[in-house]
Amino acid sequence: MATNDTLTRFTFDNTHVRGELVGLNQTMADILTRQSYPQPVQNLLGELLAAAALLSATIKMEGLLTLQIQGNGPLRLLQAETTHKGELRGIARLDEDKEISEHELLGDKGSLIITIDPDQGRRYQGIVPLEGDNIAQCLEGYFKQSEQLDTRIWLACENGIAAGMLLQELPKLGEIQEELEVDEDAWNRLSHLTSTIRNDELLHLENEQILHRLYHEETVRLYEDEPLKFSCSCSKDRLSNALSQMGYAECQDIINQQSKILADCQFCGQHYSFSQSDINGLFPLESAKSGKGLH
Ligand SMILES: [Zn+2]
Repeated sequence: MATNDTLTRFTFDNTHVRGELVGLNQTMADILTRQSYPQPVQNLLGELLAAAALLSATIKMEGLLTLQIQGNGPLRLLQAETTHKGELRGIARLDEDKEISEHELLGDKGSLIITIDPDQGRRYQGIVPLEGDNIAQCLEGYFKQSEQLDTRIWLACENGIAAGMLLQELPKLGEIQEELEVDEDAWNRLSHLTSTIRNDELLHLENEQILHRLYHEETVRLYEDEPLKFSCSCSKDRLSNALSQMGYAECQDIINQQSKILADCQFCGQHYSFSQSDINGLFPLESAKSGKGLH
């Protein structure tokens, strides 16, 4: 994967097993030049981004998928988002007062929140407890519990490169499938084969090399690679919404003191500035009443 930021999907002939591989190289670089984090935090964020990329491909919808981890350790919040087009962004929030160590970044009581916001349709949210810092295990439990699907997930992040792999047993569709010759032992065999993957292979080999290394005796069907990249969906409009929620009084207060409201996007660092007339536009009634709107 090392040279490309791609999602590769694959299946195995005559089985109910599917898989995915993702690599994040430039995407990680783009995120890490905008925000600097201590190494262990960087690694966990990379894993969460790889997980988001893997999961977005398991969900057949257009929209946004967000993985958010809230913990009670030094790392308070970790968030990774992806659109169905493979546009990723992520962020970590640290508790400045607590010391960062390799272990227990998230404390002993974390939870992972999976949110799916389809462009059309209703928002879905699932919450799973996170024990320790093991995101992959937590997600395997989520698939078992909520979808009744056997799933194995491998995540790795090191030196600003992240990668992930997913193997999933699909539901058997009953009678139609029985006519085909289905390899019943495939799941056990393939998950055993896949578990021999090492982190350095996941991080540094091309997707096709990994598949060959693991499954050279299997019949693997590859689908077209899908690109992954960093992209931030922030805009002045979106930040305006946040200001509207803050309320007129507070916004006007800041304008009175600083003559403008400055806000930076948490994900990409883009600067936004709101003037008196922006605020008047956001709160036409209130500003007219207070006389600020009359110029
Ligand atoms: Zn942004």
